[in-house]
Amino acid sequence: MNILIKSVDDIERMERAGHVVAVCHKRVKAAIAPGVTTQDLDDIVRDTIAEHGATSNFLGHHGFTGNICASVNEEIVHGIPGPRRLADGDIIAVDIGAIVDGFHGDSAWTYPVGAISEPHQRLLADTEAALYEGLKQATAGNRLGDIGHAIETFASARGYGIVQEYGGHGIGREMWEEPHIPNHGDPGRGLRLKAGMTLAIEPMLTTGGEETEVLSDEWTVVSSDGSWSAHFEHTVAITDGEPLILTRRLHSMV
Ligand code: MG
Ligand code: MG
Repeated sequence: MNILIKSVDDIERMERAGHVVAVCHKRVKAAIAPGVTTQDLDDIVRDTIAEHGATSNFLGHHGFTGNICASVNEEIVHGIPGPRRLADGDIIAVDIGAIVDGFHGDSAWTYPVGAISEPHQRLLADTEAALYEGLKQATAGNRLGDIGHAIETFASARGYGIVQEYGGHGIGREMWEEPHIPNHGDPGRGLRLKAGMTLAIEPMLTTGGEETEVLSDEWTVVSSDGSWSAHFEHTVAITDGEPLILTRRLHSMV
């Protein structure tokens, strides 16, 4: 496995890419409302990325036509933005990536549209919390399995389906670098983490089962049982202490 350790300069470049992604999320969050289309959100991100002199890392990737992935309700990841209008009570996972100076940032967040049901409020809060449970283990000296195990333990205790077929990844000069980071695992097993590794950690949970299917558009991944799904992701750099969250929201964005 070719795990790249980034220099401080490279991590600073990734921080700049991460900042562009964070600004995109701030604007997307402010725009989400019933009646807004997923294409409207894509347009906001396209313009924001251009304004910062950055590039979208999703657009054109294996022919993907969006600047974002917009995955609504039972859609888990890789939803294609388009004419669909968001409705009151929907949830939408927006995955955004930007490239600055050849380095990538990648962060997904799931937002409520209008008023959402109590179980879906819990799904969003718990999936975000599962991300932070994983991040607590993302420190030099720990192993990859510690991250997955923390996410899995937190999510299973609350009865969620943990999507197995997709997960986190190394990131840097490419959006997907080694290693793959499953959202489940055995503590103390797997690759040992080192300072300077840069990883995207991204739990995807459902209110039902873990089985997934890809729709006929060949992109959109949905839950097989139709249960709704949430996805939260940060790009981080491993340090000897807490990970540096490169896609962190500034205080004013929270
Ligand atoms: Mg992503
Ligand atoms: Mg990712």
